[in-house]
Amino acid sequence: MDDPREYDGRVIKSFGKRFIVSTRDGTFDCELRGRFRMSRGRAIAPVVAGDRVTITVEQPPYGTIETLHPRQNKISRADISNPDREQVIVANCDQLIVVSSVAQPKFKHRAIDRFLLSAERNEMDGVVVINKIDLATTGTHLHLARIYESVGYQVVLTSVVQGQGMNRLREIVQLKTSIFVGHSGVGKSSLLNTLQPGLSVATGEISDATGLGIHTTTHVELHPLEFGGFIVDTPGQRVISLWEATVEELPDLFREFGPHRGRCRFRQCMHIGEPGCRITEAVQEGRIAPERYDSYLRIRQSLIDEKAR
Ligand code: GDP
Ligand code: ZN
Repeated sequence: MDDPREYDGRVIKSFGKRFIVSTRDGTFDCELRGRFRMSRGRAIAPVVAGDRVTITVEQPPYGTIETLHPRQNKISRADISNPDREQVIVANCDQLIVVSSVAQPKFKHRAIDRFLLSAERNEMDGVVVINKIDLATTGTHLHLARIYESVGYQVVLTSVVQGQGMNRLREIVQLKTSIFVGHSGVGKSSLLNTLQPGLSVATGEISDATGLGIHTTTHVELHPLEFGGFIVDTPGQRVISLWEATVEELPDLFREFGPHRGRCRFRQCMHIGEPGCRITEAVQEGRIAPERYDSYLRIRQSLIDEKAR
């Protein structure tokens, strides 16, 4: 028999002890080399969807995972059976595509901002998609775009109905691993279907005050895009702690607060109206958008309320 062939690939799905790995020559149904389980102790899932691996293939379509490459980032939560233990749900996601709409449903700053904070916290790029611009009657969407662009996020104005923005969105997701999130009805499925007809993925929605999540760990799946890249399927709507920030770290997650860090009069300044607060001054001077500062105050309050519950 020939020597086994070796491939670098991406785990796109796992079922218990089997992992589907996508490579340049198609997908292979793989098991872990035994020493993996040994060397990594009793880790629940040493390899997860999104992991980059090297596999050997002796008898297609079956292969063996030989090497797990270092993760660039990961989304995890506490293991249900053992809350002190971390359970990684998906690895190596490049970007969170936060979808909103101009109208029907109307644009909600706080929801968008929560998702962007999740992206910051999980070391993913945040991208703001403002969809349904065909329904825009005033210039609000342009104002919104300017706010997020000035903070440093990529913004894409789209209309699935009229086809605007689709090439730009395609360029953004090409060769990347992206998670689409946003309120129900904003047009996530429509956008994905326009990017690649037939691409049907469950997308994250806001579940409750603390953000979004995934119910099950076993069904996270990466869908390959024909033009390169992957869309992460996040079935169910809850429990991935993409979020879970603390009140203390909240200011660090607002990018535009960065230049003012450590410059308030009080070292413990919470930026809620203390004298000599650089953040509130920056808002008054028009260097921080009032909409974003308002989100800061509201999200902060909701974190405090949640803690008290
Ligand atoms: P999802 O819940 O975020 O996946 O949203 P859907 O893709 O199911 O879209 C919700 C509704 O909005 C559907 O009736 C779509 O036809 C409609 N829709 C999606 N994109 C647009 C758009 O750009 N403009 C308009 N006017 N309607 C859209
Ligand atoms: Zn301050």
